[in-house]
Amino acid sequence: MTAPLTLDVIVVGAGLSGIATAYRLQRAGHRVTVFDDRDETSRGCTAVHLPCNLARILHEWGFKEQIDALAFNVKNINFHSLDSGELLGCAEWPDDLIDEIGAPYHIIQWRDLYTMLYVAATDAGVQFHYNTNVVGVLNEPPRVELAGGKTITADFIIGTDGPNGIVRALLFGEAMLEPEGHTIYTGTVSRDELANHPELLDLTDPSNGNFQIWAGTSRHCIGMPMLNGAEYVVQVWQLNDDIPDEGAEGWDAAYTGPRPKVGDLRLQRLVDLCTDMRRVKVFKPDCPEEWADDTDRILLVGDAVHYFPPGLVQSAAVHLEDIEILGVLLSRLTSWEQLSHLIRGYQEIREPRFQQNEDSWHRTNYSLWLPPGPSQQGRDTQFRRQLEQKGEPLDDEMMLAQFEEVWKEVGYNAREAAEEWWVNWGMLRERSKGRSVSICLAGPPEISGVSTHVNSINAE
Ligand SMILES: Cc1cc2nc3c(=O)[nH]c(=O)nc-3n(C[C@H](O)[C@H](O)[C@H](O)COP(=O)(O)OP(=O)(O)OC[C@H]3O[C@@H](n4cnc5c(N)ncnc54)[C@H](O)[C@@H]3O)c2cc1C
Repeated sequence: MTAPLTLDVIVVGAGLSGIATAYRLQRAGHRVTVFDDRDETSRGCTAVHLPCNLARILHEWGFKEQIDALAFNVKNINFHSLDSGELLGCAEWPDDLIDEIGAPYHIIQWRDLYTMLYVAATDAGVQFHYNTNVVGVLNEPPRVELAGGKTITADFIIGTDGPNGIVRALLFGEAMLEPEGHTIYTGTVSRDELANHPELLDLTDPSNGNFQIWAGTSRHCIGMPMLNGAEYVVQVWQLNDDIPDEGAEGWDAAYTGPRPKVGDLRLQRLVDLCTDMRRVKVFKPDCPEEWADDTDRILLVGDAVHYFPPGLVQSAAVHLEDIEILGVLLSRLTSWEQLSHLIRGYQEIREPRFQQNEDSWHRTNYSLWLPPGPSQQGRDTQFRRQLEQKGEPLDDEMMLAQFEEVWKEVGYNAREAAEEWWVNWGMLRERSKGRSVSICLAGPPEISGVSTHVNSINAE
């Protein structure tokens, strides 16, 4: 469905959120221009999780074939001790769950996901301006100032410029990001290199569909194949107290300092073999009360509005769910005065879901980080029971125990959440204004044909 009223939209920041926002809104019938201060090629080095709830969105956006060709499908999650390497348990990702949701749990290279969205957005008619720094954002009318002095006016501005970005700082106040206490080290090992280490082959074999987790006291590690098994990604969550000061930090520069120490010798070997390693600090989420400015013409999306640590199962999903909901709502836009209502609806739908995601990652990580003692023993007993029952059909009780929490996360259907809001609130309001609205649901964005819109906003 495309919007009867078309907006000229400026997106500030072409990270994953910016690029996905641009694609989705262009498909919803708007005209989108994106500014980013970086080079388009300096993008991502490791993997990103596409849990079923996100895979479903991307399938509906038209990327199923590309994802199937590029991604690794998770079939089992193995739990090991980070200290000894002992295999403690295994949770199979049941086919029933995949069938119910209609999409599997994939892992894909971050750069592949980015490129896929970039190419599709460009084909759809989005205008990208890389190496373009936005130095000012103003409202009434919404406009951005570019380094060099040019001012560009639009109908609507979306800040996807990250938690420390200029849109949030200028209109909503500086984000107050506090360190969460961990730093993520992440890097990759090539299959050619792994071939020299036979002791690592079964652990890293892509054909068995295994995603590995090592649980340790106050820290953990994950390992997963990427690029159809051509590379293996390792990610270590290390306490900040245990990391050296020297060495680069952030996504831009490779970290070449000392490697984190783990107890399991095979895992240590993997960590030591990693190339192109990055070291990124984790922060506590910090979300402004209002996600749009007073005029409802400037909105925050992605890490700019609610930072979510990278590397978690739901990290990318949190933001792409936001964007799908925004896309569904803005595909309904018929009048200027309706915009505020839709923007408020977007925040109303998303706030509880974000809170749920945040609670869930805390619970999951804390259960992995248990110190030795009765709680850890209880957890490991449950893991071992799952391992003993591997391959056997799960009874309803076991299924519920293993997947109740997971279902809350991956069973969420962003499009349906937006459509439900529209039927309950959006249509009601339109009718109260005397406008006739049809009950027909928005459905997935139009994915066939390339847009012929020529953008009216041009930075050149
Ligand atoms: C270069 C890069 C590589 C990454 N690689 C990975 C990876 O391999 N694996 C992983 O799990 N996560 C990676 N991440 C992190 C991941 O993108 C974020 O954690 C998450 O996806 C949120 O994305 P976002 O788009 O909301 O914010 P961000 O990814 O932070 O994107 C914000 C964008 O806005 C741009 N920007 C900021 N200020 C301005 C301005 N004033 N004018 C114009 N543009 C501006 C930034 O350059 C950036 O491109 C990477 C992030 C970046 C920036």
